[in-house]
Amino acid sequence: MLFSEVIGHEALKHKLARAVREGRVSHAQLFLGREGSGNLALALAYAQYVMCENPSDADACGVCSACAKVHKLVHPDFHFAFPVNSSKSSEKNPVSDMFLAQWRQKLLQSPYITEQAWYESLSLDNKQGNISTHEAEAIMRKLSLKSFEGSFKIMLIWLPERMNTVAANKLLKLIEEPPAQTLFLLVAENSRLMLKTILSRTQLVSVPPVDDSALADMILREFNLPQLEASTLAHLANGSVVEARRIAGQSDDKRDYFEQFATLMRLSYASKAENIILLIQQAEKIAGQGREWQKNFLLYAQRMVRENFILNQQVNEAVYLAGEEADFSAKFSLFINPDNIFRLYEEFNLALQHLGQNGNPKIIFTDLALKLVKLIVPLKK
Ligand SMILES: [Zn+2]
Repeated sequence: MLFSEVIGHEALKHKLARAVREGRVSHAQLFLGREGSGNLALALAYAQYVMCENPSDADACGVCSACAKVHKLVHPDFHFAFPVNSSKSSEKNPVSDMFLAQWRQKLLQSPYITEQAWYESLSLDNKQGNISTHEAEAIMRKLSLKSFEGSFKIMLIWLPERMNTVAANKLLKLIEEPPAQTLFLLVAENSRLMLKTILSRTQLVSVPPVDDSALADMILREFNLPQLEASTLAHLANGSVVEARRIAGQSDDKRDYFEQFATLMRLSYASKAENIILLIQQAEKIAGQGREWQKNFLLYAQRMVRENFILNQQVNEAVYLAGEEADFSAKFSLFINPDNIFRLYEEFNLALQHLGQNGNPKIIFTDLALKLVKLIVPLKK
């Protein structure tokens, strides 16, 4: 991984690269940042920069033989330890080396992974992973060997907070005084779960949440969404690349919810006789969708009504609407006011409840549509 491939964290990348250039490479560093931040990505890029045979001031070259091996996570002097556990199919006393194939596959897809997603890929059946004493012994063994390629040996430990006390104590001395040209990169999310003795032996690299503009750029690159929507989603993702991808990935469904919602509302507030037939047809169309879709649609409708009420009350900064949602809401918000917001909310809730009780969707949505005609009216002056 190159620094240029890490999302955001520009200042930190420069700082890390400069430290290497100036020969200030600490032998044990703790990349500490919460889930979804670039803690693991930065550690991988840092490792590549250290190993690279021909680095520039800012980044590894990406083409030398060391870069090629680090990039594929197959460099013989680049070692990994991470939480594992035994599943039904695996052996006893599991250590990271038994799961290297899954680890490489997961990280090569994206180094922005969650602990939960990692365990799911190991099929651990809700068991948590850990870094055991067997792992600590394996780490000591690996680092006692000479480096294969005559340069640095790097041991990256992902989630050292999952290391038990005995394992941690075994590694203390090694972390404090590693053999020459040996680096520990610890990548953690929660330092409170780590042994103080380990913490005190590492140099802290504090990884902040990813900033909104870097997340918005990522969403624009990876998903085909309008700029404004990308910015809104980036803001909602709260500094997490994982969360940003999750929300942006749902936005195809969201566009569908929006279209169905907008049609339903337009037909409700223009309640001419000929529209009632169209309105009932629209309700039947929604009733023809799957139950999961219908539930999510109703939750979406509740969110839209809430945002439009806030817009109506002109507390603009609290509104999370973008693109077509914002265009639609400029007019629609005139219809959502203190007179009807509670009833609307209640009607969507009721429909959700009835769906949950396996009610007939055709009846539920027709009933809802006809109630909307009465509720969606501009505030009487
Ligand atoms: Zn290189």
